[in-house]
Amino acid sequence: MEEFLRKELVKCMKYLHTKGLISGIGGNASVRLSENEVLITPSGLLKAELHPSDIVKIDMNGNVLSGFLKPSREGKLHIAIYRARPDVSAIIHAHNPFTVGITLAGKKIEPVNYEAWTMFKDVPILEFKLPGSEDLANLVAQNIKSNSAVILQNHGVVTVGKTLMEALYIAETLEEVSTMIFVASCLGGAKLIPREYMKD
Ligand code: 13P
Ligand code: ZN
Repeated sequence: MEEFLRKELVKCMKYLHTKGLISGIGGNASVRLSENEVLITPSGLLKAELHPSDIVKIDMNGNVLSGFLKPSREGKLHIAIYRARPDVSAIIHAHNPFTVGITLAGKKIEPVNYEAWTMFKDVPILEFKLPGSEDLANLVAQNIKSNSAVILQNHGVVTVGKTLMEALYIAETLEEVSTMIFVASCLGGAKLIPREYMKD
C-alpha cells in the first residue's frame, strides 16, 4: 500500500505540473497512511521530477518518521486539515493561476456550469497568510470544515478528498471553472446557469 501511495503522489505532482497548476518547486500533496502516519512530498524540489523514494513519512505532530529529504513546509497545514477532517485521506496544494488570478481581481467563483454550482458555490477565499506559517495552517483548517476546496488569496488553492484522484479532480475542475469565468469576463461577463436549476 505504501509503495502504491508513494507512486500516486509522484504521478499527482507530475499531472499538476503538466496541467499548469504548479510550476517548478511550487505545490505539495499528501496522503494519510494510517491514524498517525502521513506521506508528504518533500520541500523545495522540482515537483514534476520526484521519485517515490523522495516522499517523506511524517507523524501527526510533523516529526519525520522516514525519508532523507525535508518534508513540505506546508506540513503543518496538511496535518491541521487531517486533524479537522477525519473523513479526508488526501490533500493537494497547487498554485492554480486562473483561480488565483480571478480572485486577485476580486471576482468570485460564479455558477457558470453545474460543477461550479455544486462544488464551488461556497468555496472560501481566505485572506493572505505567509506560506508555511501556523496562521495559514489554522485558517485553512477552520475553513475547510464543510468544503472540498479553499482558495488562498495571493497564493493558491487547497483541495481535499478521500483519494488523491478526488483531490486532483477538484483542483483541476476549480481551475477549469476559473478559466471559463476569466474568458467570459474578457468578453463582457458570464451568463450563469438558469436560476431554476440552482436549487439544493
Ligand atoms: P514546499 O516545496 O515546501 O512544499 O512548498 C511549496 C509551496 O507551494 C509552499 O506554499
Ligand atoms: Zn504554495
